[in-house]
Amino acid sequence: MSLQIQNLTISAKDRSQILNNISLIIQPGELHVVMGPNGAGKSTLANSLAGHPNYCVDAGDLVIDEENITEASPDQRAKKGLFLSMQYIPEIDGVGIGKFLRVAYDAVTGKKSNPLKFRKILVEHCKNLDLEESFLSRSLGVGFSGGEKKRLEMLQLAVLNPKYAVLDETDSGLDVDALKTVGEGIAQFATQETGVLLITHYARLLQYMNPTHVHVLIDGKFVAHGGMELVEKIESEGYTNFSN
Ligand code: ADP
Ligand code: MG
Repeated sequence: MSLQIQNLTISAKDRSQILNNISLIIQPGELHVVMGPNGAGKSTLANSLAGHPNYCVDAGDLVIDEENITEASPDQRAKKGLFLSMQYIPEIDGVGIGKFLRVAYDAVTGKKSNPLKFRKILVEHCKNLDLEESFLSRSLGVGFSGGEKKRLEMLQLAVLNPKYAVLDETDSGLDVDALKTVGEGIAQFATQETGVLLITHYARLLQYMNPTHVHVLIDGKFVAHGGMELVEKIESEGYTNFSN
């Protein structure tokens, strides 16, 4: 059982190459962190795993539990147990978060859940994430702060309980409290059965968790693989001493 990124080379639709021969194996329960400077290709990696139409796979494969999903659509990937964070949550006035999550859950599991039972489970998850129950009645994405978007993501993770989660943490202006909620949420996830690929350029988030693997991405290539010592190196020296 694993999510395997095998020698992936990715270019944008205009044919410029962004990622060059990227490989990673993520097993359930592992927490992998990818760090890199702006423009390194981190979001391109997340988007490619999501099957985003703006990116072309020039070479390599994406395999989930022995099944090749390189050509699979985003919803087929989700059904195989892959969760991808939405960087830009759609704003849909009139669609409540509770309803949205139930529809997403039913789509991924292929079953129709009982609305009342599902609501109970949601309320329980809200408690664990320090969210008011009223959050579930708000319209999806409308007027969300950076912290609320992240909390929605944690709620989605809790509800969908994916086998593998890819989280692209851009600098979305999280305050200290939101950072802690998100950091602890991710840490909790990674100690369960889920394999997590956390893409981030801030080490601040990592104080709440113990990554099992750290990978450094510069200019579309992995230049180092290791553990927390790489995060410390980046914090003290930046990216200049990683040779490409
Ligand atoms: P990061 O998330 O590490 O900051 P990105 O993956 O967003 O980096 O971008 C890596 C490089 O690829 C940048 O130079 C960016 O301009 C370019 N890039 C990303 N997406 C596209 C796209 N759809 N079309 C053209 N260039 C892109
Ligand atoms: Mg990015």
